[in-house]
Amino acid sequence: MAEIICGKTVSAAKRLDIKNRVEELKNKGITTGLAVIIVGNNSASRVYVNNKKKACEEVGIESFEFALPEETTQEELLNLIDKLNNDSKVDGILCQLPLPSHIDEQAVINSIDPKKDVDAFHPENVGHIMIGDYTFLPCTPAGIMEMLKFYNIDVKGKKCVVIGRSNIVGKPMAMLLLKENGTVEICHSRTENLKEETLTADILVAAVGKAYFVTEDMVKDGAVVIDVGMNRNDEGKLCGDVDFDNVKEKASFITPVPGGVGPMTITMLLENTVRAASQK
Ligand code: NAP
Repeated sequence: MAEIICGKTVSAAKRLDIKNRVEELKNKGITTGLAVIIVGNNSASRVYVNNKKKACEEVGIESFEFALPEETTQEELLNLIDKLNNDSKVDGILCQLPLPSHIDEQAVINSIDPKKDVDAFHPENVGHIMIGDYTFLPCTPAGIMEMLKFYNIDVKGKKCVVIGRSNIVGKPMAMLLLKENGTVEICHSRTENLKEETLTADILVAAVGKAYFVTEDMVKDGAVVIDVGMNRNDEGKLCGDVDFDNVKEKASFITPVPGGVGPMTITMLLENTVRAASQK
């Protein structure tokens, strides 16, 4: 039976450290501020934005919210980002995704000053992650690395299988595991014989977006299983990509949903914001 990796515990320890660093900066007369932009009425995005603002308050980071209507043009959004790029009170800029379909997301990401890109989505920061010399880490993968460290799970030499190759989770996750000397494989929807691949994993990361996708028969005995998924099951309940109840009997460590990766993602956003402020 697996040990449960508690994202809330790791998160609380990390947030305390961030709070102290924000306070130290304040004592030197340096404020820490995060601008959060939300466009339209996506209810999930609203929940995420509220959680991010609340987390900022808890650690003493000032948050500035910009809630724009659905019909906001790309030009209006880019103008706002330009203003925030030049505002010294704003250390980090986060534009909540997804954006309405008439706005080009990559153009918006590209317009954020890389020094304020606390999501680490800007191509310049993505390049830094590839090289392994970075200021900002992509929040979800970085949160996972913090959890592994907290539970003394050594990545070095381990076979790591990541299911999912998105720019925000799968690809950067693979890079961070590689940096810690894991032997990394990325799987995706065109992978043949997925189960054959996942069964080789000492560390299995699921970032697929499909409820209960990873079943017990896909997991090696004693594997560490990290569940990034945030899905709704048939009853509308929040659940991950992993069939938690059955997989936990086989794994050595496992993250639950909720209470696993989710809390860490916001914590690493706070980490990136305080790093940005420290570099002012
Ligand atoms: P995404 O962009 O939709 O990517 C999903 C990936 O899964 C794709 O690479 C896709 O392959 C792969 N995939 C889909 N079906 C597959 C199959 N049958 N077999 C193997 N691979 C398959 O999603 P994402 O943004 O990475 O997010 C993944 C999940 O994590 C979602 O549930 C999301 O809500 C959640 N998430 C959680 C957090 C958090 O803080 N907890 C943060 C971010 C995301 P192809 O590339 O071939 O299409």
